[in-house]
Amino acid sequence: MASEMPEILVVEDDPAVRNLVATALDVHGYRPREAATATAALRDLTSRPDLSLVILDLGLPDRDGVDVIRALRGWSRTPVIVLSARQEDADKVAALDAGADDYLVKPFSVDELLARVRVALRRLAYEAPADPQPSAYRNGGLAIDFDAGVVTRDGAEVHLTPIEYKLLTLLARNTGKVLTHNYILKEVWGQVVASDLPSLRVFMATLRKKIEPDPANPVYLQTHVGVGYRMMSVEPPAQP
Ligand code: CA
Repeated sequence: MASEMPEILVVEDDPAVRNLVATALDVHGYRPREAATATAALRDLTSRPDLSLVILDLGLPDRDGVDVIRALRGWSRTPVIVLSARQEDADKVAALDAGADDYLVKPFSVDELLARVRVALRRLAYEAPADPQPSAYRNGGLAIDFDAGVVTRDGAEVHLTPIEYKLLTLLARNTGKVLTHNYILKEVWGQVVASDLPSLRVFMATLRKKIEPDPANPVYLQTHVGVGYRMMSVEPPAQP
């Protein structure tokens, strides 16, 4: 939904600072998510691709924040604003070189942080429109023509129900990323109702029967137990 306000992940181990930032974001209409460790941040970043911005502390209890930036830059250009007590130039340079977009030293002004959030999101909005949704998808023997709404496997058309098609295209557009149950429910059904989880499993099972060469050993749709599903990248079929 385009009208929804951007989601922003706040990574900070100090609960007072985390609450301050999250509350300020919430008051200004953003949707803050919170993580207290680098591990929790990376789990959130890999499982929920619907993120607009990261506000990141560097002094985290498990790993350095710079490691989080480096890892994130392996697959994502989501803007990162560092919020750190470290004020040495060398620390700023290390964070910016790792891929941070901006750097704010603690103690900080909430108004300045919000201004920098607006700048980062504006930059993102300028860059984003040049990236239209592709009209075709190909992965191994699986192909989707988004304009025609046609799915083929090894050249043969696969007949999907509207829900199965929405599920497949959502996972395909996020190939390589784990999508959580809640994210999928929200995107496909428009809401998150815990009781819908069993129906999601049923739809995934029928979808697998239609697109997997061997549904018992899926190569496309990988299950992450208790988390969600991922579309795997599959090698193109070998030419005989
Ligand atoms: Ca800290």
